[in-house]
Amino acid sequence: MREISDIDIQFVKSVGEKRGKVLRQHGIETLEDLLYLLPRRYLDRTTVKPIRDLRDGEEATIVGKVLSQQVLRGRKERFIALVGDGSGFIQCVWFHSIKIWKQIFAPGETFAFYGKVGYFNGLQMVHPEYDRIGEGGEWQNINTGAIIPLYPSSEPLGKVGLDSRGLRRLIRKVLPQYAEMIHEVLPEDILRRQNLVPLRQALQEIHIPEKMQTLQRARTRLIFDEFFYFQLTLALRRRYYRNLAKSVPFGDVGERTRKLIDKLPFELTNAQKRVLREIWADLKRDVPMNRLLQGDVGSGKTMVAIISMLLAIENGYQAAIMAPTEILAEQHYLTIYGFFEELGMKVDLLVGRLKAKERREILARIGAGETQVVIGTHALIQQDVAFQRLGLVVIDEQHRFGVLQRQALQQKGYLPHVLVMTATPIPRTLSMTLYGDLDVSVLDELPAGRKPIRTVWRSSAKRRDVYEFVRDELVQSAQAYIVFPLVEESEKIDLRAATETYEKVKHGFFGEFEVGLLHGRMTSEEKESVMQRFKAGEMQLLVATTVIEVGVDVPNATIMVIEHAERFGLTQLHQLRGRVGRGEKPSICILIAETPLSSESRRRISTLCETTDGFKIAEVDLELRGPGEYFGTRQHGMPEFKVANLVAHGPILEKARAEAFRLAEDHARLNETLEKARRFKSFRRFQENLELAQIG
Ligand code: ADP
Ligand code: MG
Repeated sequence: MREISDIDIQFVKSVGEKRGKVLRQHGIETLEDLLYLLPRRYLDRTTVKPIRDLRDGEEATIVGKVLSQQVLRGRKERFIALVGDGSGFIQCVWFHSIKIWKQIFAPGETFAFYGKVGYFNGLQMVHPEYDRIGEGGEWQNINTGAIIPLYPSSEPLGKVGLDSRGLRRLIRKVLPQYAEMIHEVLPEDILRRQNLVPLRQALQEIHIPEKMQTLQRARTRLIFDEFFYFQLTLALRRRYYRNLAKSVPFGDVGERTRKLIDKLPFELTNAQKRVLREIWADLKRDVPMNRLLQGDVGSGKTMVAIISMLLAIENGYQAAIMAPTEILAEQHYLTIYGFFEELGMKVDLLVGRLKAKERREILARIGAGETQVVIGTHALIQQDVAFQRLGLVVIDEQHRFGVLQRQALQQKGYLPHVLVMTATPIPRTLSMTLYGDLDVSVLDELPAGRKPIRTVWRSSAKRRDVYEFVRDELVQSAQAYIVFPLVEESEKIDLRAATETYEKVKHGFFGEFEVGLLHGRMTSEEKESVMQRFKAGEMQLLVATTVIEVGVDVPNATIMVIEHAERFGLTQLHQLRGRVGRGEKPSICILIAETPLSSESRRRISTLCETTDGFKIAEVDLELRGPGEYFGTRQHGMPEFKVANLVAHGPILEKARAEAFRLAEDHARLNETLEKARRFKSFRRFQENLELAQIG
């Protein structure tokens, strides 16, 4: 049975050699690729505005004929096409490359334009996006309800007659000729249960839509497919992992674990207890644990890690925890050392700055199994670090690590159990995608007695008032942070801003207090000593760059001032804010922002002032930034979806996931489906992605 994926683009009727070659350069190698070249937009009566109804400042789509061209010379050369649609006129304006525009917008041709409407000697659009529309017929039909798909094109494609209009004509011609070859991939019962249209019909509707309603159903089908294929690869991975890998199950909870829990100065939260039970159940089975622990900042993840590590040690294994920064690793070391030393266990810290001799000694202890817990940074995954019997790997703040780094640590043991922890709450749609093959535990409760953090924002004109407030609080023996952003492009400037402020306030405004400075360029000894002093209360004010973003834990610090808050992302602001509100006293976070705020900064800042719920914040963040940027795509094994969108199509994702995981348990039907799916690129591209995302 011939499939659309079998037909080379060159041999598709009405494509030909010349166009085939250019299409191939654009990644369109087979008929399948051509049919999956999806319109980026549709024009219909409801989306196009008559020019006469346009308003200054709005984003709009118009369709009109080019009436005349004009070039304005001067300091800033301009090309103007006067466009009319029978209801009115508008000037479409382009700067630079005048020659090209002159050629494209030939008088008499009809185009669709999209852009922001302005007013300057009449209506105008500057550098609008555009599509060439067919003369007469096609466009006239729109008034009788036709929908015109617009395709992504390029200059080389345009040169061989495949601009948006050319592609539309080509696909319209090709589709009916090969329709018989579009075979269904999904099992019948899934189509029925999910009320999905058959693939052939979906592709037909996508390219030659009849009504908006049927078009919507076609899109839903393609979105479902994308999610389904991806989830299916996750389901398979998980099954494979479960069936193949056998590790040694841990035995019972030992003496020392009980002793440690008894001696804690606080009661574990219910969420901590529940998560520990989940982890414990994993450790007792003969397949390695592969669990993600999500918990908002301050929810007590470290304690969960400590007890889990103790369980490993009691069973004769070593445990390792990897943190993204030295500050954090050192802080963990102090905490963990404090708990474990009394229980007679050996804890070592492995970071980059160690002297060669020191490092050699530690490595020897780890290799001989004398060290039971190793805490470290990336230094842990260096080649010469060898464990005797590594049974549990903990990755803290896992979003800071790439997949490969996580894997590198995992491979230091034979199928060790893995616990990855994150304080970046991940919206459900994302975690189902990114960590679809992990088990997820959630710490959804903060330790008792925490006071909520009040968050306010002030314009930079009010900085002095803010600083005065901070001073009053310091007098009352509070401790405070002032944080400056550190974005890569302006790293030097920000560093200077932090350093200058530090110098200024240390001798001026906060002259009566002990003030410290913390930034990434300091040596780790310097950083450590500053942190120690701040933690011990010998220092009242800490001026810092974002190096304090993750994990720093000083319960007595109750004031967080964030400078240039408009430059931070939402999640980052939330992380920074999480440095306060860790003790018994109420805390405040003051965001200082340069006004006027862009609408996006305004949304970020007001979201932060309204809620401290990390999950809500993550949802807004995802919405503002889009999934691609939310996590660095490749590094995190985040697939790129073509039609599907993680923000907008959550409900379809849930259904696709449920069906995929269900199918993965049904061997006969699974094999049949896989055999069909494997022939399609739309499926195969996720498989490749999956290899990258080995451990999630
Ligand atoms: P995060 O989840 O952000 O990593 P931490 O593990 O750093 O949070 O914990 C934050 C603070 O809460 C620490 O000072 C820790 O000792 C404390 N803590 C952890 N669990 C509890 C609990 N059950 N009750 C009270 N305080 C707790
Ligand atoms: Mg932490």
